[in-house]
Amino acid sequence: MKTITMAEVVAKQRKWFESGKTRSVDARIQKLEKLREVMQKHEQKLLAALKMDLNKSEFDAYAMELGLIYTELRHTIKHIRGWAKPKRIKTAMTHIGSTSKVISEPYGVAAVIAPWNYPVQLALVPLIGAIAAGNTVVLKPSELAPNVADTLAMIVAEAFEPEWATTVLGDAKVSTELLAEKLDYIFFTGSVGVGKIVMTAAAKHLTPVTLELGGKSPCIVHKDANLALAAKRIAFGKFTNAGQTCVAPDYLFVHQEVKERFVKLLKAAIEELYGSEPLQNDSYTHIISDRHFARLADFMNDGRIIIGGDKDAARRVIAPTVLEGVDWQAPVMQEEIFGPLLPLISFHSIEEVMSAVAARSHPLALYLFTESTEVQRRVTRELSFGGGCINDTLMHMASPHLPIGGVGDSGMGSYHGEKTFYTFSHQKSLLKQTTRFDMPFRYPTSKWGKKLI
Ligand code: NAD
Repeated sequence: MKTITMAEVVAKQRKWFESGKTRSVDARIQKLEKLREVMQKHEQKLLAALKMDLNKSEFDAYAMELGLIYTELRHTIKHIRGWAKPKRIKTAMTHIGSTSKVISEPYGVAAVIAPWNYPVQLALVPLIGAIAAGNTVVLKPSELAPNVADTLAMIVAEAFEPEWATTVLGDAKVSTELLAEKLDYIFFTGSVGVGKIVMTAAAKHLTPVTLELGGKSPCIVHKDANLALAAKRIAFGKFTNAGQTCVAPDYLFVHQEVKERFVKLLKAAIEELYGSEPLQNDSYTHIISDRHFARLADFMNDGRIIIGGDKDAARRVIAPTVLEGVDWQAPVMQEEIFGPLLPLISFHSIEEVMSAVAARSHPLALYLFTESTEVQRRVTRELSFGGGCINDTLMHMASPHLPIGGVGDSGMGSYHGEKTFYTFSHQKSLLKQTTRFDMPFRYPTSKWGKKLI
């Protein structure tokens, strides 16, 4: 059988796009409904693939992957007609007689390059928005979750003509081939280092990009926080998916006065959520590869373990672990952790925390636990970060009404819900001028025009 080249994949999609087949909003809705139907049909296969690749429990798979996709599908199908409608907007007095509108126009062939940590939703949520906006999609899932990648390929093939959406499987080599083509939009989710490679490739063709990257997201527990709730919500946000979550709290600041009490509560919360022997908990996610496990095992030497610390290299599992006494220069504080290790730093004043955060790259997320509206206001207004929560973790990700994205080193652009639709649409401005009269002062021959100058 002849294998199809990347150039052919993209050329076929461009031809399909140019034929106008993706322009009809009704046809897009039908495709999204078909995708939902195919996903529901193969749900058990997706759950099994997530279990094989990451040991993801059914609860986590629904709550953090499938549930999010169904929410996006429902929300998008419900609102797509309104989003796609040309928007009539104000016309300035100087343009009297004319009307103005903005038309959402699809870019064309969009590439979606996805990571392995939430391998279903981080592939399909952008795909849903790209299709809704009228683009074609070449999806490149992560090779590190191979069972999910195969299942996604099957689902996409059943729901779409390959000219409308298709999957290309493989590692960085395949991504590189895809990025060498002239694409009309690139949506990348992954590491900062690869994000720079993607942006360099995009620059060669002047292709617009969204970069959903990572980084070190701080979590702050102030002395007036509801400590028991903070402990439970932080344990959930950090150890879900064994910490392999782009917006997981990376490290923790806890006010000195409440540190001892908070550590006890955090230990209890971890036990409540993952049991007293997390390594034996069949619902606890494993580390994705031996290489990632070895990296995390090394980080465990960068501080004093005060909670957890157990690990099993053969099964690639690490218990929820809290470290104290870490040095800012240690690798665990220099790199994004992306695993179930939580360094804890105690602080005396919120100013000290704010200068430590401001001195580092803008994080993807920031979490703040406090009852003080003044502290909430200062931290959220004065520090730059992608997004976050007050008195919670991760939950901002689950709303189709909140755009998700980074700033600075944690990425550019955002998506979810309406924002995904506009991310994948060019906003074309159009002024329709009257022919019933012609204003003389716009012309260089006008005496009024000269007076104005
Ligand atoms: P990664 O950057 O290694 O890989 C992401 C994708 O890029 C994969 O499909 C991979 O095959 C491809 N890729 C790898 N090397 C490439 C290269 N040289 N050229 C082109 N493509 C290449 O990231 P990962 O390890 O899969 O995911 C973890 C990272 O992703 C973390 O940094 C995490 O914070 C980030 N992330 C961010 C978000 C977000 O929404 N902002 C979500 C999940 C993960």
